[in-house]
Amino acid sequence: MSKIVFFCIPAHGHTNPTLGVVSELVSRGHEVWYYSYNIMREKIEAAGAKFISCDDYDAEQRLSSKDSARVGKDIAFSTKLLVDTALALDDKVCFEMEDIQPDCIVADSMALWGKAIALKLGIPFVSSTTTFAFNEHSAKIMKQGIGDLFKMLISIPKTTKQVKRLRDKGYPVKNVLDIIGSDDEAHTIVYTSSEFQPCSETFSDKFTFVGPSIRDAKDEIIKMRDKLIYISMGTVNNDMMSFYKNCIRAFKDTPYQVIMSVGNIVSVDDFGKLPENISVFPYVDQIAVLKKADAFITHAGMNSVSEGLYFEVPLVMLPQTAEQKGVAERVGELGAGIRMDKQDVISLKSAVDKVLGDVTYKKNAEKISQGFKKASGAKGAADKIIEVCGK
Ligand code: UDP
Repeated sequence: MSKIVFFCIPAHGHTNPTLGVVSELVSRGHEVWYYSYNIMREKIEAAGAKFISCDDYDAEQRLSSKDSARVGKDIAFSTKLLVDTALALDDKVCFEMEDIQPDCIVADSMALWGKAIALKLGIPFVSSTTTFAFNEHSAKIMKQGIGDLFKMLISIPKTTKQVKRLRDKGYPVKNVLDIIGSDDEAHTIVYTSSEFQPCSETFSDKFTFVGPSIRDAKDEIIKMRDKLIYISMGTVNNDMMSFYKNCIRAFKDTPYQVIMSVGNIVSVDDFGKLPENISVFPYVDQIAVLKKADAFITHAGMNSVSEGLYFEVPLVMLPQTAEQKGVAERVGELGAGIRMDKQDVISLKSAVDKVLGDVTYKKNAEKISQGFKKASGAKGAADKIIEVCGK
């Protein structure tokens, strides 16, 4: 039986898809350790892995709110943070790997310390990607090619300094792309289908597109009207009171039932008395709602989009980040939804009327859903990991 060590960042969207894979590996008799963060402990242990906390070593958790805003936007700054975390974890992880003697390390594409440790100790490695995989072809489709490449080039002198810090500690990295690039030589699990991934045919055969992992619904939603509209801007950047109020104005006099999830930052009480057809919650069982929904107004987070399309729900997308814009771009290209730049009452209502009124959106969502359902899922991901363990 094999010994497998997972590494992930403290984000539910990156952790959740791996949990089914952990359960699958454990049920086949393999032993799994999982380096993550205390907020994820319960679900990681429930999946059957031995949890190891990285909280005390994570550079990002100690940032001021001003510096937090630079993460992901300033490449040199983000690289420094990742290297800080990798070096802070270095002694502990190297020591523990000596003890565990893993057959394979599986690391989220953003938990770079996992890949760095695997390189340093010569342990077989699998990258795990919960967003689209990137190469020069898919980046072009996602319209993030040239601008990002330019930013990367101008920040190379600063990232070179970070690479040297890693090399000084025995990490065999030539340049920053060794650790942050999607790499054709690395075995990679991508949690989407080959049909939904842009330019999937341009990735090497080391890439396995296993499809999204969709958890079971816990609740049962009762549909009160013919059409149900679900609205959520995700769990991270959801402090959007004026948008939520526009949604209420847009749909209050319509025949639609509306369920809106607004997160914990805005207060449900601040909405006052709601129209009879609209309900607002801080959090809902999104899977249960999507099973019954006819349209989904979403920020185009990768998980929300995958879940919506899995249940064949056409999307109205208001992406907030570069990654969400890329996802929205792809959905638009496949004709399963509309990407909006405006958030006013009239635009919201006409976008929803359009995706409900033109059956093509639903048909295209169904097509993507079929691709998701025929993908190999957690079993396929586990097969890939075991194959790498055996090499
Ligand atoms: N989610 C949920 N209930 C809510 C809001 C969100 O269950 O009321 C879940 C949703 O099903 C998805 C995740 O939270 O799995 C959001 O992930 P996504 O990648 O869409 O966006 P993020 O929150 O990371 O911006």
